Amino acid sequence: MKCNNPDKKIKVGIIGATGMVGQRFITLLSDHPWFEITSLMASGRSAGRTYAEAVDGRWKLPVPCPEKILGMKVSDASDAGAAADSCDMVFCAVNMPKSEILALEEKYARAELPVVSNNSANRWTPDVPMVVPEINPGHLSVIEHQRKRLGTKRGFIAVKPNCSIQSYVPMLTPLLDLGPRTVLATTYQAISGAGKTFREWPEMVDNVIPYIGGEEEKSEREPLRLWGRVENGEIVPASSPVITTQCIRVPVTDGHTAAVFVSFENKDVTKEEIVSRWNSFEGEPQKLGLPSAPAKFITYFDEDDRPQIKTDRELYGGMGVSCGRLRRDTVFDWKFVGMSHNTLRGAAGGAVLIAELLAAKGYIK
Ligand code: NAP
Repeated sequence: MKCNNPDKKIKVGIIGATGMVGQRFITLLSDHPWFEITSLMASGRSAGRTYAEAVDGRWKLPVPCPEKILGMKVSDASDAGAAADSCDMVFCAVNMPKSEILALEEKYARAELPVVSNNSANRWTPDVPMVVPEINPGHLSVIEHQRKRLGTKRGFIAVKPNCSIQSYVPMLTPLLDLGPRTVLATTYQAISGAGKTFREWPEMVDNVIPYIGGEEEKSEREPLRLWGRVENGEIVPASSPVITTQCIRVPVTDGHTAAVFVSFENKDVTKEEIVSRWNSFEGEPQKLGLPSAPAKFITYFDEDDRPQIKTDRELYGGMGVSCGRLRRDTVFDWKFVGMSHNTLRGAAGGAVLIAELLAAKGYIK
């Protein structure tokens, strides 16, 4: 698949460029075939500095920052007008109060910039699509309704869901016709999900913390919105299955694991059928051949000791999700373990894939 405008790269800005997710955006976009980074934005603390100065001592990734980015100036994210002059769209991943994020994202959309956001603030705005491109690409159709509400021609907001749910929702999606009734998931979440490394959070070495603020509510509610339908330009969430979760912080740098139990209306399905549905499941990114699409969305491992964080989180550049240990359960019908990379598939990579889908479908030009 080619971008709608193959002769000219789409100019992108990154709001929150100095943070954990922002740094991932930089490594994913600095050599992207469709996008080029033209603007870096952060708080007033970083504004006016070069990127190298702004992230001095707080570059968090195992790979170095691309040379060509180091000399770029960081600007103040509050100036949406300046970004509108230098960008065709923006990615947003900031640590700010919800009301300020709502105002910031809307300001950029009203400045006629498509905003693809990692933040949770707009995930329940009825005409803002919350998308995993393999699961609910049809939800992008609400953008026209949103543009009318905002009074924009180009600008809009699209968001990605919370990182935790990518470790079990992909696996449940190809099983929806079996009528899942109840889902129980315990997630074991990496410290990068809090924007942290072990250097910044030494208390997490040799430790487990049984609480992540707000995470269980998001993990239980957001899947229903992904599986919802479009009605009158808005997303109406699905009403089932009932989902209950516990979200636990574990001493892992990157990668969220989920232990999942599920019961179905249809009891007749076999293990072979479920595994075959997982291994063959593909969505629009695979069909369109989008640049960041994993060749295979879900990989099932037969080995009892996989998926493992260290060997499997980088599957297809961290964009493939994996699972294993599918077996019958005595209380529910089935249980399995799922895993996904939280800052790649679950954050920056997932957002880049949304932007590629938006570009392929003509929403971003
Ligand atoms: P982070 O490492 O703490 O980075 C936060 C970023 O926000 C920095 O660039 C910071 O700029 C910027 N910022 C803070 N206050 C600002 C302000 N008033 N105006 C403009 N920019 C401001 O956080 P993160 O982990 O990257 O997370 C960012 C967002 O992504 C959050 O909403 C988070 O929930 C979401 N998210 C994170 C993950 C993950 O795995 N980490 C996954 C999914 C979603 P300065 O450097 O100038 O302070």
